[in-house]
Amino acid sequence: MGIKVAKFGGSSLADAAQFRKVRAIVEADPARRYVIPSAPGKRDKHDHKITDLLYKCHELAQEKRPFGEVFALVKKRYLTICSELGLSLDLIPDLTEIEARIGAGASADYTASRGEFLNGKILAAYLGFTFLDAATLIFFDAEGRFDAEKTQRVLSRELARYPRAVIPGFYGSTPEGHVRTFSRGGSDITGAIVARGINATLYENWTDVPGFLMADPRIVKNPKPIREITYRELRELAYMGASVLHEEAIFPVREAKIPINIKNTNDPDAPGTLIVNDNGNLQTRGSITGIAGLKGFTIIAVEKTLMHSELGFGRKLLSVIEAHGISFEHMPSGIATISLVIADSQLNSKLDKVLVDIDRVCEPDSIEVFHDIALITTVGLGMAYTPGIAAKLFTALAQGGINVRMIDQGSSEINIIVGIENKDFEEAMRRIYYAFVPQTTEPEC
Ligand code: ADP
Ligand code: ASP
Ligand code: MG
Repeated sequence: MGIKVAKFGGSSLADAAQFRKVRAIVEADPARRYVIPSAPGKRDKHDHKITDLLYKCHELAQEKRPFGEVFALVKKRYLTICSELGLSLDLIPDLTEIEARIGAGASADYTASRGEFLNGKILAAYLGFTFLDAATLIFFDAEGRFDAEKTQRVLSRELARYPRAVIPGFYGSTPEGHVRTFSRGGSDITGAIVARGINATLYENWTDVPGFLMADPRIVKNPKPIREITYRELRELAYMGASVLHEEAIFPVREAKIPINIKNTNDPDAPGTLIVNDNGNLQTRGSITGIAGLKGFTIIAVEKTLMHSELGFGRKLLSVIEAHGISFEHMPSGIATISLVIADSQLNSKLDKVLVDIDRVCEPDSIEVFHDIALITTVGLGMAYTPGIAAKLFTALAQGGINVRMIDQGSSEINIIVGIENKDFEEAMRRIYYAFVPQTTEPEC
């Protein structure tokens, strides 16, 4: 029998009722032998994620302000889960030590990681599985990069010793033995690494939606679930804000050809979304697979007559942003123009200096800057083989009176990216979605 690795997200483990669903899921299939929990998420819209509370405790402690009140919320959540599940597990010594270490200046990574650490202990006790601390299994190098080789070596050796285990998500350790976390949402990455480490037949990612949906359900009402999606398509969508799966979670399993199944903890029998390698068949399915987008970009449009014949113009332009430590998202170009699309988080307060340097190094005729830009990517492996996709997309935007500031199509032709104003973002997402997924009833735009 193959081995399944099951990762459960924060909303799937937000309270005792959710833990019960998780146990029923794990017990329903003996192949589910390795379980990766996140920290408890929100129980409702107004609730707090434990990870956010822990970051808050760290922030207050750094400012030498009292954090006991916030830590009390963390403590209460875990102790309530334990008592409602009827567990005899005593978390007080761990909670006391964690609170003391935060007070003594523990790092943000250590503090945040305790959300998964404590939840892992509870889940292991509740399932009757072995608890394995991720700090002993997942490793980073001295520069803080994930150390795939060491992790693989230790994981395959250690997991062979424990037939059933719970490994907390989100963190590992550095060569000096300090705790280090992945970026937010990183428990998805831990799940993928463990699946690779044990050579699982399937990586199940359990969450609070019926799989990967064609659009963000917070923007489009009841978007259709995607039954099957390739790693390439999913990466495009995940990178552009479809946060259901961390985009870096794809690499470890893709290499090992382990499929990912995104499933709904609240509806375990539904098929969810299967993420697979491109087997060639999907190219014939036509139309689009999904839409995703992000706000918060700036476009720097540089114009210079005869730019196309000036050797090294592109290099000079890119050397300027490189010198400022800035990376770009897209670089559409014409005969006399190049535009750089840059995330605002990259630019910070550097824009003025960057513009001065572009002017000095590239000597352009003009530089124009467009602020408050959002990007929307429409993704589909079948797009390249289906005529009329672009026409449909741009007609939908035009009908909504939405001004397109930038168009980019990856050379792999599996997506079309449009740059629009932030204020048009939600409306544009809905317009594109309904253009490709006609509704039987009038949508509530
Ligand atoms: P978990 O806590 O299980 O890791 P996340 O909150 O990280 O869950 O991801 C699931 C959430 O991702 C959903 O609740 C949904 O709001 C959001 N989301 C954004 N885009 C999509 C999409 N295309 N399909 C499904 N969910 C999406
Ligand atoms: N708890 C962490 C976060 O909120 C990691 C995760 O949920 O995957 O980002
Ligand atoms: Mg997540």
